[in-house]
Amino acid sequence: MFSSVLIANRGEIACRIARTAKRLGLRTIAVYSEADANALHVRVCDEAYAIGPAAAAQSYLVIEKIIAAAQGAGADCIHPGYGFLSENAAFSEACAAAGIVFVGPPPGAIRAMGLKDRAKALMEQAGVPVVPGFHGDKQDPAFLKRKAYEIGYPVLIKAVAGGGGKGMRRVERHADFDAALEAAQREAQSAFGDARVLIEKYVTSPRHIEVQVFADAHGNAIHLNERDCSLQRRHQKVIEEAPAPGMSAALRAKMGQAATAAALAVGYRGAGTVEFIADGTGGLKDDGFWFMEMNTRLQVEHPVTEAITGLDLVEWQFRIAAGEPLPLAQDQVGVDGHAVEARLYAEDPERGFLPSTGTLVALQFPRGQGLRIDSGVEAGDSVTPFYDPMIAKVIAHGATRDEALDKLADALEHTVVAGPRSNAGFLAALARADDFRQGAFDTSFIDTHMGSLGAVPHGLDRAATARGAQALLAKERARFAVSDRPASPWDAGDAFQLSGPRTLSLPVIAEGETVTAHVAYEADGPRVMIGDEAPARDAETIMAEDAVYVLRAGRQTKVTLRDHVLDEGADGGGGGLVRAPMHGKVLAVLVEKGATVTRGQRVAIIEAMKMEHTLTAPIDGVVTDVSALRDAQVAEGAKILVIEAQA
Ligand code: ADP
Repeated sequence: MFSSVLIANRGEIACRIARTAKRLGLRTIAVYSEADANALHVRVCDEAYAIGPAAAAQSYLVIEKIIAAAQGAGADCIHPGYGFLSENAAFSEACAAAGIVFVGPPPGAIRAMGLKDRAKALMEQAGVPVVPGFHGDKQDPAFLKRKAYEIGYPVLIKAVAGGGGKGMRRVERHADFDAALEAAQREAQSAFGDARVLIEKYVTSPRHIEVQVFADAHGNAIHLNERDCSLQRRHQKVIEEAPAPGMSAALRAKMGQAATAAALAVGYRGAGTVEFIADGTGGLKDDGFWFMEMNTRLQVEHPVTEAITGLDLVEWQFRIAAGEPLPLAQDQVGVDGHAVEARLYAEDPERGFLPSTGTLVALQFPRGQGLRIDSGVEAGDSVTPFYDPMIAKVIAHGATRDEALDKLADALEHTVVAGPRSNAGFLAALARADDFRQGAFDTSFIDTHMGSLGAVPHGLDRAATARGAQALLAKERARFAVSDRPASPWDAGDAFQLSGPRTLSLPVIAEGETVTAHVAYEADGPRVMIGDEAPARDAETIMAEDAVYVLRAGRQTKVTLRDHVLDEGADGGGGGLVRAPMHGKVLAVLVEKGATVTRGQRVAIIEAMKMEHTLTAPIDGVVTDVSALRDAQVAEGAKILVIEAQA
């Protein structure tokens, strides 16, 4: 066994790897970018080395810097986690060249599975079922279009070098093919520097079912059951579970056999995941699953497999990398109950899942039997715009699927996140959704249920705002030490009047909107109302220095006193002010000073978290000021341009 490991990653996965490494007695070595100098993964490791600027391309993705840190620290091995360099064959080679063990497969296996077209060809040869389609070299548009016609619509165009759902387009009709191909190629070129695509039959009622495999250096391969990751948004997993609902022992054995055959065909070693797409129409079928791709690393969702098998997959990775044989034989791997994982993100489901950055004013998770939280941040830490905004993974394990889902929903409903917005409420609604509970779901489930899952704009929660105003009032009164007794003459600060009921108008800003709270001083203390809404009782308030965060039914309402946000006032109330919704880069400013714009017109594009966000004009008017330049980095809230309403 090794005596030390450098973890070439950050966030929850770096913390999770460190946990097992420590248990095995390894010295843990972290690396960090400038943005992560105080990050949790640095705090939990024994040592830490700086590797450069915040941008991953200049730190976590630079092979030489990671190798130099590992050599400097005298690390025996490097664990790459997932993402970053985990599926980079050159990195695996660089480790070997430096005499450091790469905790992962050999470079040849990474390369064989790296491109989807080549992987599919290899799998066909190995007798693994692949999705019908075209995955050859020829790329001329007319030829590809003919192939799509032969395969039969709907088809899926996929980037050969694809990942994360990028460069992927579903095409329903022959007439739409050309435009979809162009878009897929353009996206593939910009994301991967490789425009090549393949065409696949679009499987109807698709379920994403993947098999966890392990292979050792002695020619053995086994599988650790499947996971169902069909709940996706934009082809990205949201909730994962094990085992897959409706899976029979016979089908599991068949898929497991196909998955281990895939691993053996490429000389695999270590942990890997073979992803299949299954036709879920009327239940899973023996001949209804096809190879999509193999991920040659540990997956985000590995904890659900750990929960139902009772194994530590990271420990297995270390043991196999150290040359040990597989710890168990296939028939020793069982299934104990059911496990579900939800990916808790700093994002706003009501605003198209826009990432939400900033300091975590509060972060609390419930504890309980069968509940596991894998987090890379704590209260007081920040979610920065530089990396994936995942806050934590919440994993629940129960005797049955219903028990696990209840436990998960309950945990999410008792999770407190303040500061950045989170998808906790959305995830809880998903875990409670009837059709999903009944097993009637496929990969389109989230898209077709957005409304009932609460992922649509709701407007201001006035009862929550009133609760916030009440909390702010109490804080102010405590600050000035004023008394709540109705007749106290010392209450000059809160609209003391000599006759009549004492009332106060308290302007607050809730979610950027100015609202007036009415405060009436009654015998038992001040009563706060907004319109006819009294303060919500079913809310939790988190007091920060300058604001109160009111958490209610999975939503956050941020309330500040009106005169505490003077900068907003100076901007003329913000009516025609277009601000950056988040930290990011200005990709384009679509209007010039003096231009006449109409409400809803696109005025600028910001890129953040690798996604484009279009900013639109909030009012009709004339552009009087353009503050942002193309390619400039802007902070959240920065002024982009100003529109003045026309008289
Ligand atoms: P990426 O590597 O970009 O993540 P994948 O090939 O893994 O792309 O596919 C991502 C998701 O797209 C799958 O989980 C599934 O939901 C959907 N998908 C992929 N191929 C098909 C197909 N042939 N038919 C239907 N859905 C598919």
